[in-house]
Parts: sequence; structure tokens; C-alpha cells
Amino acid sequence: MPAKVALITGAARGIGYGIATCLARQGTRIVIADMNGTSAKKSAAQLAQDTGVKTLGLACDVTSRTQVAALVKKTIKQFGQIDILVNNAGICPFVDIMAMSEDVFKKTLDVNLTGAFHCTQLVAKEMIKRGKGGRIIFITSLAVNVSSAAQGDYAASKAGLHMLMKSFAIALGPKGITCNGVAPGMILTDMTKFHWEKPEPAAFVKQRVPVGRIGTPEDIGNAVTLLCSDAAAYINGVGLIVDGGHQAVCA
Ligand code: NDP
Repeated sequence: MPAKVALITGAARGIGYGIATCLARQGTRIVIADMNGTSAKKSAAQLAQDTGVKTLGLACDVTSRTQVAALVKKTIKQFGQIDILVNNAGICPFVDIMAMSEDVFKKTLDVNLTGAFHCTQLVAKEMIKRGKGGRIIFITSLAVNVSSAAQGDYAASKAGLHMLMKSFAIALGPKGITCNGVAPGMILTDMTKFHWEKPEPAAFVKQRVPVGRIGTPEDIGNAVTLLCSDAAAYINGVGLIVDGGHQAVCA
């Protein structure tokens, strides 16, 4: 049986690359899709060198349905199948909601929510055609339930993404395709390092997160791997919080 194929968006760096690394360690062939095609190719080459799996790096802006369709076509042409899709590409501009322009608001929804709609619909059609089921993971956030004044656009997009995941879980479950969310807590990546590398927030993490450390991209990759394993066949339409216990703390 040929090795499985996973397509991960926004995977040239950060959490996406952590997910790619963990799935590759299981022998899964990996497609790294990212806005920047050069970075995608470079990361795919690095991953192949580190893990020995076959990889492909492709440019794709998830907000463009045309580009997503081309991404799916190229993946099928190269690897013949898609078993796993991870909707990971996301942005968080951190602008106060009262000062936010319409353009910023719309762009966040476009990347974080509409992008996942395009990818899921187009990949799921291929999965259905092949008839062997599949796994689709949506990278959401603790912002599905909580927000801040600087995350109005982001929280709206992620709460929407959580419900989009549920809708696809209902539509695709009968086809043997499961859809689930993974909600990362505080993870050290380029998106967040400006904040967490300062001394005070670092101390806050130690005090606030029960496991006593900030999360890594591979913490999220391991959770995604779990949900993509055969053992997770009956898990569908749920969100898994992966935050070291952060959200369990009441004050
Ligand atoms: P990063 O900013 O480190 O990486 C995001 C990646 O997505 C970049 O490679 C970026 O490309 C790419 N990207 C951005 N826009 C698009 C687009 N339109 N199409 C394709 N790719 C795109 O983010 P993280 O790794 O931290 O975040 C990954 C996901 O995890 C996001 O959905 C985020 O919301 C979520 N998350 C992150 C948390 C954290 O603490 N870090 C917490 C909760 C959720 P480029 O470099 O070219 O811009």
C-alpha cells in the first residue's frame, strides 16, 4: 500500500511545519503549501532530508479558489491521492477592533475562514471520488471561545472555522471522511514570538499554564497525528484543545 499523503496549508514555517514534521515521522508523504513558493520548496526539501519521506513544496494563497484548485491538481498529479488535509494557514493582525479597517477585518476572515472552505471543499471532492475516506483537520484557537479587543477579527474567524468544521463533519462523515478541530494554546512561532520572548509574558506563561511552558509547533503536530491515526476513526466533529491546561485555569 502506498504511503499516505497529507496536504498542509501555511506549512513553510511555524505550527504548519511542526505538523508536517510529526506526520512525516509516521511515513506520510507531505505537501507543504504556502503563500511563498520559495519558502514552501525550501521547507519541503529540508523535511525530506530530515525524515526521508517524499515531499513537495507548492505556492498557494488559500484565499484564491483558482490557486487552491491548482494545488489540489498538482498534488494528485505528483502523488495520486490525498488522505489528509490540514487547514492551518492563518493570520492574526492584532489590531484594536475599534481602530480596525474594513480591509483588515475582511482579510482575516478571507484567509482564516474562506481559505479553509475552499481547501476543504476541493480536497473533499477528490477524497470522495477516490472512495477511501480521509481526515481533515482545522487549526482553530482558544479564540473560538475567548477574545480580546485586539482579536475581534481573529476570534470571529476562528469561531466561524469551528462551526465550518462541524458542518463539513456532518456532510462528509457518511463518506468516511472525518473533520475535527485542533485549538492550540500559546505556541511559540513567528506569529507570537514578539510577545512571548519578552520577560514578563514568559513569566506569565510559567504561572498560568499548568504544564509550566509555552507550547511548541510539534505539540500541535502530535495532536494532529493522533486525530489522523486509525485509532481516531470514530472521532468526528469535535475540537481538541491543546494548551497545556491553560484554559482549565479559572483565574
Ligand atoms: P505563522 O505566522 O508562524 O505561520 C503562518 C504561515 O501561514 C506562514 O508560512 C504564512 O506565509 C502562511 N500564510 C499566511 N497567509 C496565507 C495564505 N493566504 N495562504 C497560504 N498560506 C498563508 O503562524 P503560526 O504557525 O503561529 O499559526 C498557524 C496556525 O495556528 C494559524 O491558523 C493560527 O491562527 C493558529 N494558531 C496559532 C497560535 C500560536 O500561538 N502561534 C495559537 C492558536 C492558533 P507567509 O510567511 O508567506 O506569510
